[in-house]
Amino acid sequence: MNNKTAIILGGGISGLLVSKVLSKKYEKVIIIEKDKLEDKPQVRQGQSHAGQFHVLLLRGLNTLEHYFKGITGELKEGGAVELDLGNGAYWYSYGGVKQNKITGINTLLSSRKIIDYTLRKRVEKIPNVQILDKTKYIDLIEENGTIKGVKVKGENTEEYEIKSDLVIDATGRGSLTPKWLENHNYPKVEEERTLVNITYKTAIYSRLEGGLQDGKMLMYSPTSPEKIGVVIQPIENNQNLVCVAGWHKADPPTDEDLLEFLKQLPDERFYKVLSACKKESDFVTYKVPYCLRRYFEKLSDFPKGFLPIGDVFCNLNPAHGQGITSACLQVEILEELIKKHDPANMSEIYFKRIVKVLDECWNASAYENFRYEETIGIKPKAVNLVNKYMVAIHKAANKDASVYAELVKVSVMIKPAMNLFSPPFMWKVFAANMRK
Ligand SMILES: Cc1cc2nc3c(=O)[nH]c(=O)nc-3n(C[C@H](O)[C@H](O)[C@H](O)COP(=O)(O)OP(=O)(O)OC[C@H]3O[C@@H](n4cnc5c(N)ncnc54)[C@H](O)[C@@H]3O)c2cc1C
Repeated sequence: MNNKTAIILGGGISGLLVSKVLSKKYEKVIIIEKDKLEDKPQVRQGQSHAGQFHVLLLRGLNTLEHYFKGITGELKEGGAVELDLGNGAYWYSYGGVKQNKITGINTLLSSRKIIDYTLRKRVEKIPNVQILDKTKYIDLIEENGTIKGVKVKGENTEEYEIKSDLVIDATGRGSLTPKWLENHNYPKVEEERTLVNITYKTAIYSRLEGGLQDGKMLMYSPTSPEKIGVVIQPIENNQNLVCVAGWHKADPPTDEDLLEFLKQLPDERFYKVLSACKKESDFVTYKVPYCLRRYFEKLSDFPKGFLPIGDVFCNLNPAHGQGITSACLQVEILEELIKKHDPANMSEIYFKRIVKVLDECWNASAYENFRYEETIGIKPKAVNLVNKYMVAIHKAANKDASVYAELVKVSVMIKPAMNLFSPPFMWKVFAANMRK
């Protein structure tokens, strides 16, 4: 432990996780969060996306548990529903339902606000971490190429300065850093955008006695050119989070129109389940026009004493549920590097290592994005061939539970995507598709 101070900008998932890692090295860690943080689960302005469907992939959950031992149990106490993804998901895609099988690949389902609140409560117990809420970060203080602190403004205060030895930017998609760099004569951060134009609409429904759901999560994935998908996700308090997503500007139906839409699906279960539920909230809309990647690693110059993390690097397609897990993996890299390097002087090696995580998540998401010919952006390698094979995997998983189990392991990121391309697995896919 040194006698230094680290400042973390943003009290989202990334900021909270990083605070745990830095608290072992820095005498004082200060999280600056612009929103008011209440003593209850909340969806707040700076994280309005937290009101939408979120699934915490097993890889991310394992990291949370690694840093905050027992948090899985606390999430369950908070109402999170444990579910074996191999057996607990009723997933319709490519003309059929995935063959279920108990896999032991358990994950937790809950509203996103429960995850954030449970994590924040754990961070609040770390003695050398202070969370300054209702405090907006305004500017960085730079001296001779090193960040020496930040300028902030509290709800009822004038602007003031906080000095520090390290600043981490965890302010998410809207980060001021790219503009700040440009305004201070650093090179421009190269960006890549992939236009997907997804609209999410989400509401809470109660599960009623006698419904058909059996505790399962139901997912209907649209097959291009279809553009509307639905998730009915069991969450805390015997409720469902119902999310309807429209790709490429398709307007997701809600209320009676949603029931009409479900009635026309090739599988009647979606209609039967939702019509046995009671709507408890209005639908809330969130739009994701594009996925965004920022290539900090290509910069020839970057200030010392400063590092970005989480969604500042990359906004993945939410439809693939990787964002939190990507943040978790980035924090693991940061932890590993600060054991050997001075955190205030390691941006080059940090960016180099982070790229591997970002590439893994971004590429997996990119193939999916280009299932639609309307998607605009840089296509990944051999996209048509890979996507044809992915369709074959999905169809095989509708017939063979072991194919589905492998697909689940890759989807929750506990196995590498390359596993889907091993010759024995490819043979299994081929054989399943040959069966009637
Ligand atoms: C619709 C939608 C659905 C998603 N679904 C999933 C999913 O199923 N699974 C999954 O893993 N991921 C999902 N994601 C992605 C996931 O939500 C993000 O990757 C994750 O929230 C990133 O966390 P973060 O802490 O990096 O950024 P954020 O969550 O954006 O947090 C940034 C924080 O910084 C604060 N802040 C911003 N500016 C300032 C400032 N100037 N001063 C002080 N504080 C500031 C904000 O208030 C906020 O608290 C989804 C995203 C969206 C949009």
